[in-house]
Amino acid sequence: MKFSITLKSSNKKTGPCVVIRSSQDTCPITCPFRDGGCYGRALPYIKYRWDAMPDTGLTFGQLLDQLRELPIETIIRYGEVGDLPGDGRKIDAEKLRQLNQVATDHRLAMWTYTHYHTTSYGSENLALIREINKDTNYFTINLSTEGVIASPGDDPITTVLPSDIGLKDRDIIACPAALSDKITCSTCRNGSPLCWRKKRPIIYFSAHGSQKRKVNTFIEGEL
Ligand code: SF4
Ligand code: SF4
Repeated sequence: MKFSITLKSSNKKTGPCVVIRSSQDTCPITCPFRDGGCYGRALPYIKYRWDAMPDTGLTFGQLLDQLRELPIETIIRYGEVGDLPGDGRKIDAEKLRQLNQVATDHRLAMWTYTHYHTTSYGSENLALIREINKDTNYFTINLSTEGVIASPGDDPITTVLPSDIGLKDRDIIACPAALSDKITCSTCRNGSPLCWRKKRPIIYFSAHGSQKRKVNTFIEGEL
């Protein structure tokens, strides 16, 4: 399990915030996009670095050291590719708590998305995710889903929907970056990114890019 950190991202979607990537062995085996539709594999310049991460990446301890150096209230997108620390089935509880502790101690505005709640250790992983989400306001773990348009509980949820879907009057909102080129994660909600907020509607993303057809087909089967 290795990591990388970019202090000023050039990703057009995130904007220039801090971005963390984790290696492919952290990806839950149940993620429906592992074999196609994953952003990390679709873009060659990301895939190249992601593939090299086992040799070139930071250890978890080195990642924590770098996070400790950041100014308070730094906006951080964890998991631009990759997922929470874990082996693809089970979250590494100790490492996740350490990550949360650093975010809390240094008052970082860090968020991520995970598919770990769908693995065979789903309930155990979900309990851990909820522990972190209830602990402080500094690290938010969104449940990454496909085709979900109603939330059964209090968990922060993001979902991917077919690219041509039109939703109205539901407790679900589109990622504002999809609606305006001027909005990025770095500027979303004036520096308090929606995905970092724990109490808010479901946020949906539209399937897009080169894998759109594959993603749409998968999601439409789920709806
Ligand atoms: S967990 Fe995320 S990064 Fe990993 S394969 Fe799935 S979508 Fe891609
Ligand atoms: S809702 Fe905001 S923080 Fe979330 S992905 Fe979209 S722009 Fe980024």
